[in-house]
Amino acid sequence: MKVPLLDLKAQYAPLREEIRTAMDEVCDAQQFILGARVQAFEAHVAAYCGVPYAIGLSSGTDALLAALMSLDIGPGDAVITSPFTFFATIGSIVRLGAFPLMADIDPVTFNLSPAGVRSLIESPPRRLKKRTIKALMPVHLFGQCADMNPLLDLARQYGLCVIEDAAQAIGAEYPARTGVSKAGAMGDIGCFSFFPSKNLGGFGDGGMAVTRNATLDSALRTIRVHGSAEQYRHDRLSGNFRLDALQAAVLDVKLKHLESWHAARRVHAAFYDHAFQGSKVQAPRSVYAGQILTNHHIYNQYVIRVAERDRVQAALQKAGIGCAIYYPVPMHLQPCFRYLGYHTGDFPESEQAAREVLALPIYPELTEAMQQAVADEVLKAAG
Ligand SMILES: *Cc1c(COP(=O)(O)O)cnc(C)c1O
Repeated sequence: MKVPLLDLKAQYAPLREEIRTAMDEVCDAQQFILGARVQAFEAHVAAYCGVPYAIGLSSGTDALLAALMSLDIGPGDAVITSPFTFFATIGSIVRLGAFPLMADIDPVTFNLSPAGVRSLIESPPRRLKKRTIKALMPVHLFGQCADMNPLLDLARQYGLCVIEDAAQAIGAEYPARTGVSKAGAMGDIGCFSFFPSKNLGGFGDGGMAVTRNATLDSALRTIRVHGSAEQYRHDRLSGNFRLDALQAAVLDVKLKHLESWHAARRVHAAFYDHAFQGSKVQAPRSVYAGQILTNHHIYNQYVIRVAERDRVQAALQKAGIGCAIYYPVPMHLQPCFRYLGYHTGDFPESEQAAREVLALPIYPELTEAMQQAVADEVLKAAG
């Protein structure tokens, strides 16, 4: 049986009429830039995350860039983050002239290690030069929150801003000291992506920033329209980072189904977890499960670790089972960041993860027969 890594047609089929009606409304209104459709979607995402403000943006990448800009991060500053992430996390920091100060990951969760962050802050490496550490940018990788309690404590202790890269984690929950919190709602600004493969995916690119801070909300609204709070008056240099009304219309329909999709992904994860028990396949760990949280993990990706990963991947591909490596090259080893001075061996956990990880199909519409086929092939290939 062939099983794709992701099947967006299966998600679209039952929503077709509803989505096309919502898109038709935008077409009839001919109101494409911001406006009521975007505002309504922003209000719904803000409510979903339990925060007062949400700002629709052109992509997850632009949400990260706008967030850093709103906090005035630039040359002379450093931002602590993880090398085991999608390029945009580091790219947004570097594009503003700031330095990405990387700390290794916790091998269990693939997320930023709080101990690693503490030691960077307490004994800054030489590569920091005279730069000031201004912000922390934890990534909630694969749909599970980074360990925010110790990270928020460090941020408070050292006066750092916190930007959550929640691109893969909209709706994921975390047992914060202040109560159950949603990804993106714990730091100063949380950033989401609506890239089609995310749990809430649009018909193209889209993103959003959420915040509890009214000043940051108005800064982000200005930043998305060329630094202009008032037409033809520009207070700062910026760009065009707006979310399209058509995307907002599509995403607002899909948002109503998001909780049920998260739940289906979790059921699928439990199926795989069970299938891989006692085998050579290391299933992902949901470290906050069992603690009153519903969305302890939203499984944007279900990522196993396996020895001889490349051989296993080739065998799965041959059998028609979709799979992918997120991410094969950690950010400190990317050619475009060579000048930053990082080397192989700097982040051994990230480098090992890059050699062992493999993402399997986990989309909500998978059937049990498809999952069984995936599990059988994985177990066969892993030996
Ligand atoms: C998808 C993603 C982004 C970027 O989002 P885009 O909408 O594709 O620009 C940033 N960070 C992480 C961790 C992501 O997975």
